[in-house]
Amino acid sequence: MRKPLIVGNWKMYKTITEAVDYVDQIKDALPDPEQEEVELAVPTLFLESLVEHTRGTNLKIVAENCFYQDEGAFTGETSPLALRELGIKHVIIGHSERRRLFYEDDATINKKVHAALSAGICPILCVDETMKRKQEHDRIVWVVSQVISGLQGVKESELSWVTIAYEPSWAIGSGNEAATPQEANEGCYLIRQTIAHLYNDEVANQVRILYGGSVNLSNIKTLMQKDDIDGVLIGRASLDATTFLEMVNYQRFGH
Ligand code: PEP
Repeated sequence: MRKPLIVGNWKMYKTITEAVDYVDQIKDALPDPEQEEVELAVPTLFLESLVEHTRGTNLKIVAENCFYQDEGAFTGETSPLALRELGIKHVIIGHSERRRLFYEDDATINKKVHAALSAGICPILCVDETMKRKQEHDRIVWVVSQVISGLQGVKESELSWVTIAYEPSWAIGSGNEAATPQEANEGCYLIRQTIAHLYNDEVANQVRILYGGSVNLSNIKTLMQKDDIDGVLIGRASLDATTFLEMVNYQRFGH
């Protein structure tokens, strides 16, 4: 049985004062982690304070990125080992904004997946799908190839540490519409089938696969009911504490 996982992704929004205020509003009102896990990916600068601030609560703090080396002359980068020491358990890797704006390619993303695993951090590997690929009916090849390269060299025994997020960039951000629940489920199913092909059915059925792209209070419940969607990655709608809290309680508040 795969436990639902809801991850908010703040990107580069908020100041530390706003971040602490937000966390105070939600940290004691979250579901039992035995039933559903709730995490917030926040800018690197806030990690240490928020990990301290949420200790003993049901909210887990996640890094939005890390580098693929533990240390060295890499100005401005963040060591996975240092994240681990802070108590970070999950890190987003290969978000479409990293791929598009910071030119991260599949080889770099694969190195980051390995670096996170070696440091004892679970990667949330994001798989993108552009509108161009969708229109050219090329989405299957594109999604499958990112899963294959992202997981290259990852052992079967390490796969239970990995979460994958199907995040079509045509659905991410303001001005875009979410994938329909059926499209989102198809993307997640495709990823699960790829894992089954690379490893086996048993591990494929254990790996959690999230959908991300304009998830909101109106669509979260339907998305979460789909067979292959084990959770969601929420950008914009996670920026407001009340909305995020209602979304993690989607069984009660979702439309
Ligand atoms: C994201 O950035 O991962 C995301 C899903 O953003 P949004 O929910 O704003 O589309």
